[in-house]
Amino acid sequence: MTVSIRASLMLSALAMAALTAAFVDPPEADEAKKPAHPAHWSYGGEGGPERWGELAPENKSCSTGAQQSPIDLAGALTASVDAPHPHWVPAHGGTVINNGHTIQVDVSNGGGMALNGKDYALKQFHFHHPSEHTIDGKHFPLEVHFVHASNDGDLAVVGVMFAEGASNPSLDAIWATAPGREGKAAVAFDIDVAKFLPAKSEAYRYEGSLTTPPCSETVHWTVMAAPQTASAGQIAAFSSLFPWNARPVQPLNRRYVLKTSG
Ligand SMILES: [Zn+2]
Repeated sequence: MTVSIRASLMLSALAMAALTAAFVDPPEADEAKKPAHPAHWSYGGEGGPERWGELAPENKSCSTGAQQSPIDLAGALTASVDAPHPHWVPAHGGTVINNGHTIQVDVSNGGGMALNGKDYALKQFHFHHPSEHTIDGKHFPLEVHFVHASNDGDLAVVGVMFAEGASNPSLDAIWATAPGREGKAAVAFDIDVAKFLPAKSEAYRYEGSLTTPPCSETVHWTVMAAPQTASAGQIAAFSSLFPWNARPVQPLNRRYVLKTSG
């Protein structure tokens, strides 16, 4: 008798729990019930770009934002806005990281850039294959992002495209140091990021976001109009590690793309 009462109590408790779960659980509680390791974001499959906004509450901008990146850089308005003025200097030392999404180089004391009268310090740069931004609908095989931050948390990112062509010596040293799987390696050479800038200073500028979760809309974007070059072998070396690490282009919505006049 005792057993059966206990069992029936347990059953009603279970039934209540089920009802509660079905009808009154807020979405946060559903999050908590997910497995300890929910789908991590990725560039395809379950954690792919169209799902980023659902993977974590802080990723909301990925699906609801109206100023997302990357975009197609087309129909730009030529304007007398500043081209970026990087004051990058060779960084002595740093860390090359394979974070499972890209190869990233963390630098300190690599200088920075001024934009709209504000100073930004270079924090890191990393690569995408193919390019995330497109120019008139066209992808380049590689795009590097130089991520800068101001003291008050604003971000300014400079993108440089790579077309297939002459080998880029600066890439060789980074590729040679980059771990083949997730991990870090110390940089034993000077990183001269200025060598990645094309000679022509013409650039696209627009307001956008991080191109990876949480897709925060805090980025002043500059994408250099002229590409650098990387050899077919250099591009293949990166794409063998990351066959596709580019978010699809996002709607422009109510934004303008400006192109510097010089
Ligand atoms: Zn990036």
